[in-house]
Amino acid sequence: SIPLSFFAGIGGASKEGVLVKGSNYLEILSQTKYVVFDKTGTMTKGVFEVNGIHHSTIGNEKLLEYAAFAESASSHPISKSLQRAYGREIDRTRVSDIQEISGNGVTAKVDGIEVAAGNDKLMKHLNILYQDCHQTGTIIHMAINGKYAGHIVISDIIKPHSKAAIAELKKAGVDKTVMLTGDAKKVANQVAASLGIDEVYSELLPADKVEKVEELLRVKPGKAKLAFVGDGINDAPVLSRADIGIAMGAMGSDAAIEAADIVLMDDDPIKIAKAIKISRKCLRIVY
Ligand code: ADP
Ligand code: MG
Repeated sequence: SIPLSFFAGIGGASKEGVLVKGSNYLEILSQTKYVVFDKTGTMTKGVFEVNGIHHSTIGNEKLLEYAAFAESASSHPISKSLQRAYGREIDRTRVSDIQEISGNGVTAKVDGIEVAAGNDKLMKHLNILYQDCHQTGTIIHMAINGKYAGHIVISDIIKPHSKAAIAELKKAGVDKTVMLTGDAKKVANQVAASLGIDEVYSELLPADKVEKVEELLRVKPGKAKLAFVGDGINDAPVLSRADIGIAMGAMGSDAAIEAADIVLMDDDPIKIAKAIKISRKCLRIVY
């Protein structure tokens, strides 16, 4: 039978906005020593602003319009941000043949014209020569009709509690914090350094994230548990693979919430340390 204090633990966590899907997760959480994070939407808000448009062959306005239309079917934070930056109604009947390439970008036809929007990996994949970008940020390269058409530089904001969240985890005895992201190295390193995260791995595809978590699971000390915290559709496989999966409940994807063992209802990363403390308190009462 399940000790009464487990119910108290789940209840206490839920009062803090932490939804624990089963009492067994409290025990795992209490032994968590490695915490691995996704960046976009987890440590950052996932709400990107346009900071610059460069080398556009069709004018900046038109480039942003093509980007917003090509991205119109996706719920990726980058897609939503580009649609918001465009700011006008998007007539979806003008868009066809949409393909989202996970961890790379999108391709679509806008008014019958081939449009590609994504990172340098996407451009390489499509054999398109792209211009390097000297502005720091997440770079959205654009190709139109198979020719390079310029890039849009966007950047995201770190959540107000992300830095404190890492400090609190350290105080709670977490040995290692790791950030895994599909975003560019420069941006990833900057975010990790400003938050005090121990290790950072960037430019990862969703499958690379799973591989990295498996590697960490192999090297960690036997009894120590590994938690993964994420928000996106892409994060579902890693959330399942970790000893404990924690998803963002408010802006997170349905797939991530479904795959997770614990859901942070208000997307606040500071709640991770809070949940660990609650789990330890309830375990002390049991044993
Ligand atoms: P993260 O690991 O930060 O959550 P993703 O794996 O979703 O990021 O995406 C990794 C990278 O792939 C992004 O930083 C971006 O360069 C590119 N990308 C992914 N989806 C899109 C999209 N819809 N439009 C443009 N670029 C995208
Ligand atoms: Mg994310």
